[in-house]
Amino acid sequence: MKYELPELPYAYEALEPHYDAETVRLHHDAHHKAYVDGLNNAVAKLAEAREKGEFALVKHWERELAFHGAGHILHTLFWNNMSPNGGGVPTGAVAGQIDQDFGGFEPFKKHFSASAVTVEGSGWAVLAWNPYADRLEIMVAEKHQDLAIWGVTPLLVCDVWEHAYYLKFQNKRAAWVESWWNLVNWDDVNARLAKMKG
Ligand code: MN
Repeated sequence: MKYELPELPYAYEALEPHYDAETVRLHHDAHHKAYVDGLNNAVAKLAEAREKGEFALVKHWERELAFHGAGHILHTLFWNNMSPNGGGVPTGAVAGQIDQDFGGFEPFKKHFSASAVTVEGSGWAVLAWNPYADRLEIMVAEKHQDLAIWGVTPLLVCDVWEHAYYLKFQNKRAAWVESWWNLVNWDDVNARLAKMKG
């Protein structure tokens, strides 16, 4: 399967005067497209590495995957998060949730704007659902690739911070990872996958 640049859900000029047609065209047709192309390339290179059993460049291609994968998903969200008929105050369930978690729309808007304005360098302000606490969170993604692919849901994780293995394995991280494979609970991974696929 190849990733494809999604069509904009409106015409280039539909967001005028708030977002100009020329910027929208360049942003979508050039910048978003570059993420899609880079993502397809990273996926292909990682497949090639698995075929050959050659993982010397795996760190590089995983970074490329995160950079372009995050860029593709975030831009897809960004386009769909805007509408020529948008703006105003929130409606429906999200309005009540914002009131509950941020004390109203005005404090939420100020908090979100301040987060966006103070991002160092390139990045994003993100409103996200935290399923562990059943609440909304505002987060900042500085250089989105540092935070992996936004929008994906982890199914299986291996902790490779030193605190996870150093007492027994010292600096032998590979030995810890090899040992960890003997512990993986595939029933749990399956349950999480089934939940996400619906
Ligand atoms: Mn962009």
